[in-house]
Amino acid sequence: MGNSTQISGLSFRQSVDHMVDRAIQVINLDLDIATAIKACSSVIQVSFPVKIKDKLELFTGWRAVHSIHRLPSKGGIRYATTVNQMEVEALAALMTYKCAIVDVPFGGSKGGLYIDPANYTRDELERITRRFARELATKGFLSPSTNVPAPDVGTGQREMAWIADTYKHLYPDDINHIACVTGKPIAHGGIRGRTEATGRGVQFALQEFFRHPAEVKKAQMDGTLEGKRVIVQGLGNVGYHAAKFLAEEDGCRIIGIIERDGAIFNADGISVMDAHFHIIENGGVKGFADADYIAAGHQLLEMECDILIPAALEGVITAENAPNIKAKLIAEAANGPVTFDADQILRERGIAILPDAYLNAGGVIVLYFEWIRNLSHIRFGRIERRFDETRGHHIIQALEALTGDKIPESILQKLARGADESDLVISGLDDSMRLALQEIINTRNSSANIHDYRTAAYVIALQKIARSYLDIGVY
Ligand code: GLU
Repeated sequence: MGNSTQISGLSFRQSVDHMVDRAIQVINLDLDIATAIKACSSVIQVSFPVKIKDKLELFTGWRAVHSIHRLPSKGGIRYATTVNQMEVEALAALMTYKCAIVDVPFGGSKGGLYIDPANYTRDELERITRRFARELATKGFLSPSTNVPAPDVGTGQREMAWIADTYKHLYPDDINHIACVTGKPIAHGGIRGRTEATGRGVQFALQEFFRHPAEVKKAQMDGTLEGKRVIVQGLGNVGYHAAKFLAEEDGCRIIGIIERDGAIFNADGISVMDAHFHIIENGGVKGFADADYIAAGHQLLEMECDILIPAALEGVITAENAPNIKAKLIAEAANGPVTFDADQILRERGIAILPDAYLNAGGVIVLYFEWIRNLSHIRFGRIERRFDETRGHHIIQALEALTGDKIPESILQKLARGADESDLVISGLDDSMRLALQEIINTRNSSANIHDYRTAAYVIALQKIARSYLDIGVY
């Protein structure tokens, strides 16, 4: 516990820093500013005892605040036995860049608790989470105005509700207490569309990528998403939703799924829903009827396909397997799935990568909407939905009176409908993902020194963050 995760000799933190350094060189960023941007602003380690089955157990957790150029600092809380200070710092840095790339006005943060949640009952997890939240809040690492966590690996809306409730009891006078954490259940101030947000964001990003034929060609593909062969590593919340939407709505063929206990492969396509329910019932992919089972699941990362979506943890594509990857496009739904060394190899081999700091930003975009909703104390669409619907009806009546024709039912339903919260969240997410990729593509194509989307994305992030440092007069 507490050691840094070693990936190809570099820690995860170093891997992220090296990728950022590449962008710093490209834009010749002042080294003092670059050093200030890269530094982790603060990090806290807390250890606290909780009584578990009549024995006191000690738990250790971290919360890193990478940047405070915008407040609050934002980032998930992860429950896993891979958590350590270095990992949390690397993930907090990624949050800083992620928010800047997709224009979410937050600094970057991340937290983690060293725990295997599977070993504890619901009641025990509640006591542990409430105690962790109390540690963070009383030490200045949890507040609607300065530090706002969210779900991450091993946590979900249940943990967020416990955190929100703990904060509310500590600070009942804070009228915005509900905004101290995002990713809450809808009945407790959460937002519609949050659960599937990151997976939806991955889908919207890929849809936008395929609207740029020149980029698709550079990635040695053509056409649209229809029929593209996809392999997904990790069918958790993000991987499941991304794969499901891509298969059901864009006509992609999910030919492989890699899970902890192995992988399944079917060149004709796998039903994502069936695989999802099989995993829930059996704890893994083994025994799934409609595909071949491969015990050494990671071999499937090297299988021929169009799009490879690593959607689990960091460091799965390394210098060892990068030379064998046959995908044409890697869509980093996870944080840090490709190490720095692997990134260099893949770039030289002409394999396109849509980087994590952009591709999985759907989560933070929608959670930004949730935070705004909480601060405004009203759900999106509540005031104007009925008004818009009535106006739609008036327009239809006017059109029918003018033309003497009846408007077809399908158009009528679209026109005479006010947007509700889900509509607005989805459209705001789609817009953010589209605009960010357009900016990344333009930046990549604007300089002969930028050869990949990751460097382009970091160039954008660094320029925005440096600008805000200069504007507020830190230098
Ligand atoms: N787990 C999310 C991420 O890594 C957290 C997003 C947020 O804090 O809003 O992007």
